[in-house]
Amino acid sequence: MFSHDFTFSDDIIDPGFKMYEQILKFAVHKLRIPMNLVRILLLFLSFWSFAQISAQDKEFAKRIIAELSSAELHGRGYYENGVNRAADLIVDYLKDLKINPLNASFKQEFDFDINTFPKNLIVKIDDVELKPATDFFIEPNSGPAKGTFNVLRINDNLVDTISYLDSLKKLDLSSTFLVSGKSNNRNSNLFALNARGYIFTSKSLYWRLSGSNVQKKYTSLVISDSIIPLTAKTITVDIEPKFLSSFKNNNVLATIPAVEQSDSFMVFTAHYDHLGIMGPNCMFPGANDNASGVAMLLELGKYFSANPLQNYNIALMFFAAEEVGLYGSQHYVANPIFPLKNISCLINFDMVGTGSGGLAIVNGKANNRITSVIQNLNAEHQWFSDIRIGGASCSSDHCYFAKENVPAIFLFTRGEEHRFYHVPQDRAEILPLTKWHELQSLVITLSRQWEEN
Ligand SMILES: [Zn+2]
Repeated sequence: MFSHDFTFSDDIIDPGFKMYEQILKFAVHKLRIPMNLVRILLLFLSFWSFAQISAQDKEFAKRIIAELSSAELHGRGYYENGVNRAADLIVDYLKDLKINPLNASFKQEFDFDINTFPKNLIVKIDDVELKPATDFFIEPNSGPAKGTFNVLRINDNLVDTISYLDSLKKLDLSSTFLVSGKSNNRNSNLFALNARGYIFTSKSLYWRLSGSNVQKKYTSLVISDSIIPLTAKTITVDIEPKFLSSFKNNNVLATIPAVEQSDSFMVFTAHYDHLGIMGPNCMFPGANDNASGVAMLLELGKYFSANPLQNYNIALMFFAAEEVGLYGSQHYVANPIFPLKNISCLINFDMVGTGSGGLAIVNGKANNRITSVIQNLNAEHQWFSDIRIGGASCSSDHCYFAKENVPAIFLFTRGEEHRFYHVPQDRAEILPLTKWHELQSLVITLSRQWEEN
């Protein structure tokens, strides 16, 4: 069920906007006050207007996040077309908000190959069945396996020495799973041994989809340290991946034109895909990652469609295929709808549902102007207790824009109140949205100030 039958809230944002329009007309045409002065007045009024936003509750955001994280969308992955159903939901919201498409149809299609796990995913160590996402994760490039196999623990300290590798090469490993205690040691030496499977043990478990564009012959798992005993002898598995060739999905692109005719854009981005499912009984809702970012974009869309910027068009870009390797934003940067050089400022939101620990600005060091505006505004308004400025990192969708010299930052909120990253517990019901209005206010104020400078 995707009920989002809200009516546009005339009561809260519109009065400010209507008043602002009337004052603008009156001041310029009747009183003949210079435009500059009117703009200062406008700025003041926009502060007033978003102060009203802060007075709202978080129901709009909560509804979007709950819908995007619901079982009907299957974790916004590739099973049952979950990610494309999420795209349709976003388009419905944009239409309800009367926000225009950036291109002809809101959607920008592209495709890629992906290995998925819609079916059986059973793992037993010495006949003890493991729980998916609690005890183990399947590696995203894993091939199929069914049956019982030997388990052989390798000596991680020797794995790079030639004599040790040679001794392993002499073994027939065609029905053996090698166990490595170094989950980050997924090195090519190990895979060159042509074992039937690989088990990497790890303390911290979370899923990821990077590398999912191929399906290997071997089966590969990450298992919790505490679950697999040193004495383990066998592994019994029933793993049936499904490889999807040229899976079609879409970026969703929308725009809110500036009041004055303009070529320049403020761009807000957020990915809407997530990890999908890992076997039939394990879904990743991705409430914080990144239904929260999508909800923030729709909140900003709601505000700016009633209170557009004077000189900057706004673009809202909802990217697909971030979790598999930033494919959506990479595709957009290679196929932009308007010249990339017309982007004055790009803000990417990815995981913004917390905030008790402050705000982080990834790629902030390379973008002094944006960073200092944020710092100054925060010093004035005390929205966040701390602002951490980070260097360049290809950790989210700002990356390919930054590589093309677009002034692009990535904002995420910090806080211990919701620590669920890439696990099934990242659920909408428990996402606190601690600094939701503060972040919204910060971005709106930043956008207004961007025009003034
Ligand atoms: Zn993620």
